[in-house]
Amino acid sequence: MNTERRVVLITGASRGIGRATACLLAEQGVAVGVNYVHELAAAQETADDVESKGGRAVLLPGDVADEAAVVAMFDELETAFGRVDALVNNAGIVGPSMPLAEMDTARLRRMFDVNVLGAYLCAREAARRMSLDRGGRGGVIVNVSSAASRLGSPNEYVDYAGSKGAVDTMTIGLAKELGPRGVRVNAVRPGLIETDIHASGGQPQRAAVLGAQTPIGRPGHADEVAQAIVWLLSDAAAYVTGALLDVTGGR
Ligand code: NAP
Repeated sequence: MNTERRVVLITGASRGIGRATACLLAEQGVAVGVNYVHELAAAQETADDVESKGGRAVLLPGDVADEAAVVAMFDELETAFGRVDALVNNAGIVGPSMPLAEMDTARLRRMFDVNVLGAYLCAREAARRMSLDRGGRGGVIVNVSSAASRLGSPNEYVDYAGSKGAVDTMTIGLAKELGPRGVRVNAVRPGLIETDIHASGGQPQRAAVLGAQTPIGRPGHADEVAQAIVWLLSDAAAYVTGALLDVTGGR
């Protein structure tokens, strides 16, 4: 029996979907790199939860939009656990709701820096370290996109929606690029999930209010997105790559 622990880096694992994914993986004894940018106490809580459920955890502070920080977090994970087997490219932000005509350049830059550049930098580091032709052992990348990429988010945040469109396109291209190199690449596209992200966009009730209008009639829980991510990470999804999996209650 192979008793080796899998090593998974999760960006934005201090809260929400990232934390739920870390906790679910912990039940499989996974070693988790818990990335966060500001909330050390919350990240420590995730790490404690992971360890209490049978996993291992290392805290990896760093802004995904900062290339040096991204390289350092992968290096620290490899130092702690010997290698990296998978990346959950989850860290992401929204801004306050407004039409594009009211958005300033600083907001647009930060949106694309975190959600696009950050996701690409993390995927690049994972590709460098996991690809068979670069001395890696193969692996899996799961990108956390959003249903916004196909809905467009008019009058709320077309910048965020566009950033997730880039994540979808990266998923499709990278799946083709890395398939022959032993790395599967997929995305989940959550809908309206109860996390702090809505409050950070100035609408704490957004998931509850709009979630009630979905075919399933309620917002989703972070754990329900984590279930899809953990499946895509697993060997049960060995023939799945380049997929964009909606977890939206039918929205
Ligand atoms: P959340 O509760 O607001 O958590 C965001 C996480 O990302 C936190 O761990 C945060 O770290 C981290 N983060 C933010 N900026 C970062 C940066 N520059 N570098 C590193 N980490 C950073 O959000 P969530 O709802 O779980 O969202 C997770 C992902 O799901 C995002 O990509 C989001 O776009 C996507 N999504 C969410 C929903 C939804 O309804 N919730 C729907 C569709 C897609 P700190 O705690 O340190 O700030």
